[in-house]
Amino acid sequence: MSDVAARIVFDHVTKRYPGRAAPAVDDLELTVEAGEICVLVGPSGGGKTTAMRMVNRLIDITEGDIRIGDQSVRDSDVTELRRGIGYVIQQTGLFPHMTVAENVATVPRLLGWDKARIDARVDELLDLVDLPAVDYRSRYASQLSGGERQRVGLARALAADPPVMLMDEPFGALDPITRTRLQYEFLRIHGEVRKTVIFVTHDIDEAILMGDRIAILRPGGRLAQYDTPEEILAHPADEFVADFVGADRGLKRLSLTRLDELELAPVDGAEGPALEGSTTLRDALSAMLSEGSRVVLVLDGDGRPRGSLSLDALSERLVS
Ligand code: ADP
Ligand code: MG
Repeated sequence: MSDVAARIVFDHVTKRYPGRAAPAVDDLELTVEAGEICVLVGPSGGGKTTAMRMVNRLIDITEGDIRIGDQSVRDSDVTELRRGIGYVIQQTGLFPHMTVAENVATVPRLLGWDKARIDARVDELLDLVDLPAVDYRSRYASQLSGGERQRVGLARALAADPPVMLMDEPFGALDPITRTRLQYEFLRIHGEVRKTVIFVTHDIDEAILMGDRIAILRPGGRLAQYDTPEEILAHPADEFVADFVGADRGLKRLSLTRLDELELAPVDGAEGPALEGSTTLRDALSAMLSEGSRVVLVLDGDGRPRGSLSLDALSERLVS
């Protein structure tokens, strides 16, 4: 496997656990394009973890195949395969008797990198996950907060620059503020190091935020819908998906777009709350409602109104 991000194909993948009649994953077919973040989401027991762990063969595939690039995971040497896949789980599983630096260096050491190269890589990664190396290199897991541990786990998974990342509820055990920070940090990191990512969560809001595409699994491990967040919110495939994304899916959809991305109407003497272009449409709607205005003004970089958006124009977008 090369360092270039690779496409991942689930080709009619089924998993049956021994002694269980119903499959845990049932005929899953989907393609994750190279460099994209695919979020597997669905209720507990829906087969998300099972689907993910067949990619690095922590779980055997019963029927069908998974390919990374052109290579079937069934035909890959398991050690080689896993070295090309960064794996992050909820409670990072840091080795408690090793320092942060030693944890991050796990895979480079296995690959036989020399010490200078490993040291440089560890510092670079700690910097990437926003843990200053001077402060953190020599600490142990017990000397870190939950959020810091997840950052170290992320750095460790990225250490050998794998083309693929598997992340199973990586931020699930964190408090909401730390969680939000890490979600945005990961998106920033992903923008810098293009990886093909499969990200598991049971939280639809996290899926909408993180996913280029979202795969919704229903109980029994069957794919209910695979689409962009925008499409899933605008056109849920059926009742199950509509229920799962929630009755506020219109509002969620508004949070995907920022004022900057719209064609605005002229200001033309309109009066209303003045908002930065980076404001989401959801927050713009909230500003209209709380200020009793049917229009907002959108500011340019110099703080001058450059256009306006009316409530009517906003609701038309939702209908289209
Ligand atoms: P999720 O990650 O979506 O919560 P899982 O993939 O962990 O779901 O589990 C899917 C289904 O497979 C569940 O019904 C679970 O009980 C079952 N399952 C998971 N692991 C095993 C196992 N090792 N043996 C038997 N059944 C399992
Ligand atoms: Mg799971």
